[in-house]
Amino acid sequence: MRVLLVEDEPDLGAAIARTLTQEAYIVDWAQDGLEAWGYLESQWTHYTLAIFDWLLPKLSGVELCQRLRAQNSPLPVLMLTAKDRPEDTATGLDAGADDYLIKPFRKIELLARLRALQRRSPHFQPQQLQRGELTLDYGTHNVSIANEGKARSVLLTHKEFQLLEYFMQHPSQIVSRDQILNQLWGSEADTISNVVAALMRQLRRKLSENGCDDAIETIYGIGYRLNLNHE
Ligand code: CA
Repeated sequence: MRVLLVEDEPDLGAAIARTLTQEAYIVDWAQDGLEAWGYLESQWTHYTLAIFDWLLPKLSGVELCQRLRAQNSPLPVLMLTAKDRPEDTATGLDAGADDYLIKPFRKIELLARLRALQRRSPHFQPQQLQRGELTLDYGTHNVSIANEGKARSVLLTHKEFQLLEYFMQHPSQIVSRDQILNQLWGSEADTISNVVAALMRQLRRKLSENGCDDAIETIYGIGYRLNLNHE
């Protein structure tokens, strides 16, 4: 699921982006209202959720909501703000925000609010990514494996999901261990750890137990490559 985060405080924005990424959301982070509108104006359908800070440079979170609703976009919006007077809440909700979170908040509450927004927006279909016999479902965290006319659905952990997504975004390309470390662990990456090999074993086991054998090939000394049957 892709989330648009609009937050101008660098530390808070980075912390929220990190939290969401750890939960397997794909995050686009804009730091002012106009940049955010650049993401939204023509392509709000790319997003499953949006998080707007209220006070932003150039365009406020309230103005972003108004512009979005003026385009008849149903994109669920969570507004973040230090304002906590009831009349402010009303202004935000009247402008088209779906929910409201007052700073400072705990990440567990942010994540719960986002899950609730997704549940309340059934018309907003979770995105899927399909390559060959594999279909990733961002809503359920399943991969569906088509095999001889049947499909088997397998639940993935966050990291397995992110790893398979990365391969599916780069089909038939050789992906190095360092690329995977950077993509999945970023600055937390411990370059001497063997987390990639361990995660790769887990993912391969899940795929092969469900009829998708040898999908990920090891290219010794270089990296890995996803090979699909029906590309
Ligand atoms: Ca702000």
